[in-house]
Amino acid sequence: MEFETKLINLETKDEYGATNTPIYMTNSFEHKTAEKLEKIFKGRAPGYVYSRVNNPSIRSVEEKISSLEGGQSAILSSSGMAAIATATLNILQAGDEFVTSSSLFGGSYNLFKSYKKYGIKPRFSDGVEKKDIARLINKKTKFVFVETIGNPRLDVPDIEGISKICKQWGVPLIVDNTLATPVLIKPLELGANIVIHSLSKYINGMANSIGGVIIDGANFNWTKFDSFADYRRQGKLAFVAKARGETFRNLGGCASPLNSFLNELGLPTLSLRMKRHCHNALELAKFLLGHSEVESVNYPGLKDNNYYNRAKDLFFGGFGGILTLRVGSKKRAFEIINNLNYFYNLSNLGDVKSLVIHPASTIYSNNTKEEKEALGVYNDLIRVSVGIEDIGDLKKDFAQALHRK
Ligand SMILES: *Cc1c(COP(=O)(O)O)cnc(C)c1O
Repeated sequence: MEFETKLINLETKDEYGATNTPIYMTNSFEHKTAEKLEKIFKGRAPGYVYSRVNNPSIRSVEEKISSLEGGQSAILSSSGMAAIATATLNILQAGDEFVTSSSLFGGSYNLFKSYKKYGIKPRFSDGVEKKDIARLINKKTKFVFVETIGNPRLDVPDIEGISKICKQWGVPLIVDNTLATPVLIKPLELGANIVIHSLSKYINGMANSIGGVIIDGANFNWTKFDSFADYRRQGKLAFVAKARGETFRNLGGCASPLNSFLNELGLPTLSLRMKRHCHNALELAKFLLGHSEVESVNYPGLKDNNYYNRAKDLFFGGFGGILTLRVGSKKRAFEIINNLNYFYNLSNLGDVKSLVIHPASTIYSNNTKEEKEALGVYNDLIRVSVGIEDIGDLKKDFAQALHRK
């Protein structure tokens, strides 16, 4: 079955044959006898107990998304950030280190920095080549974390090369695939071990609910880490077993059944939307590149982009829906944003609507000047999440916005 057929034919588990997963808005599940509840609690019988731990609406979406990425199991969470916090804290202990690209979604960057308070050392790499990561790995490293399209630098890491380095050092590779989605790339097939998504973006597509997911490829031997000592019996399934038994349950970042339903609604049209996002973004990037009011355009789909060849090799027919442009000054950036009619000025991406934001004064406003520069967040930079509107209208809108002073 090809991917687009799969998107339409993901199995919905429901005893009455519902084709969209019903919304189980309930906190708890009653069981007639104390014996039965005991068994379910101990994981010796199937069943649900409490919706922070799991719920049929949530499980159905977990299975669907896991299947799209080629994973073995998944945990849905309240947000992308909850997924990232849960997945990383599931592995880390005080004294550990990890290696990550510095080109990260702002929330992830700030979360990782905050781990220093708990005696955990993040090592940020300015590059996303194999050698950049290899240079920072050592015996204390517990994982490597990258984004398939780094936000905001829009760099495309050498996932295969990095996964080889990870294998040499015996550490897992965690990949945040929010910006590319499984339509463009399936990191588990390239050697990654855990895949993360913010569902709030392309998977949901309509910007109507926050959500996240952790997908486990069950292709890493976790039991050699001290932090998995109690999960040796679970072998390659130890990651999810520990998260379900401890980290996820204790942190409490569970998905809501309603949000799970809304996120699931995005799945059948994911490929259709992504192709259109990619098409429109490439067209808009080319248009902006030739414009006298634009100093530079960053989009992996432009032929002179540093990551063009890799993205062309790795991605299945598209370069993503996000581009950035530099326009000379903060004042010009604000003017252009204010002049645009079809682009919503807000903090989000992956919506069917086109969106713009000035990252330096918003998402990254609490970061230092040095951090912003390392992250590629300049004062004259505008980030665009290109929607699925008519591309002629989007170009015309930018033309008038750039023209007006
Ligand atoms: C938005 C985003 C997140 C965080 O997801 P939330 O659902 O907003 O918590 C993480 N990674 C990337 C790449 C994102 O774009």
